[in-house]
Amino acid sequence: MRRIWMVFAVLCLLCTSCTPQAPLTQSFLALDTACSVKLYGGATEARLRMAVSTVEEYERLWSRTVPQSDIARLNAAEGEAVALAEETSALLETASAWMQETDGAFDITVAPYKELWETASAVPSEDVLREAGQRVGAEKLLSSPWRLADGASLDLGAIAKGAVADKLCERLKADGCTGALIDLGGNITALGRKPDGSPFHVAIADPRDTSKTLLTVAVTDVTLSTSGSYQRFYELEGRRYSHILDPKTGHPVENDLLAVTVIAPCGADADALSTACFVMGFDKGKALIDSLDGIEAVFVKTDGAAVPTDGVPFC
Ligand code: ADP
Ligand code: MG
Repeated sequence: MRRIWMVFAVLCLLCTSCTPQAPLTQSFLALDTACSVKLYGGATEARLRMAVSTVEEYERLWSRTVPQSDIARLNAAEGEAVALAEETSALLETASAWMQETDGAFDITVAPYKELWETASAVPSEDVLREAGQRVGAEKLLSSPWRLADGASLDLGAIAKGAVADKLCERLKADGCTGALIDLGGNITALGRKPDGSPFHVAIADPRDTSKTLLTVAVTDVTLSTSGSYQRFYELEGRRYSHILDPKTGHPVENDLLAVTVIAPCGADADALSTACFVMGFDKGKALIDSLDGIEAVFVKTDGAAVPTDGVPFC
């Protein structure tokens, strides 16, 4: 947790230093991470409270560890269909589409592997991973109505923060907010513009030293989602293992990437894609982003080289 707070503090600092008008700000813990909302033009305390309670509301709907959340009920239903909120159904549709599009690199059925690594006191054996793998895979999630096959369970950790940011932006916009910076555990969403009409400047931290800025982008109405192994990891037998798992093997990802930041108009897409690209590695990940209109990314390779796609809006 201390490490998460440090990264959070750095991101806050970097964002604040780029924005001259003082926003109305609230920092809070939600979604198992440090969050903040900064409201610019038209900021009110009531809007700030609405923002925090919106994040909490969707955490109650989508967290697998909150009893009675839609995801907890689906996981506990032993293959039976469960009535879900419309928003949950829509999010499962989006997640299913990215599971297909990324050839299973992004996979919300990865929970059995995650539980193994989370609770392990030693590196899980291949046999144990294979057994868990029988409960993982896109075909375990069935729709119309939504249900889970063969002891599968879901974890929306790789898409929920982006999706919650989308919901919050919808509400803030409907409420007349014209500018906000939302930080949900390092996933940054820029809603609208600063009061002077200029875009937000958001710094992307260097994964090798998060107190340093790798590059800065000028953005409006996008989410920047970063996936990497430097903020969250499992520590076993004196070694660090990524909290992002390869759904094909159950092993923590270890490849030619330190981090990926995806910039996309839809937060859920940015979040799912940053995880997927991190699993896919540089070549496949960059090819995927290059094939998608309106979506950009910055890949940081293990040698520290930052490789942006062509449309990254540097400032
Ligand atoms: P963070 O949550 O640190 O911002 P990500 O968005 O990449 O990072 O999500 C990582 C989380 O998603 C993990 O903690 C786990 O709950 C889940 N997860 C791990 N590997 C995968 C995967 N390959 N596909 C989908 N979800 C994953
Ligand atoms: Mg993600």
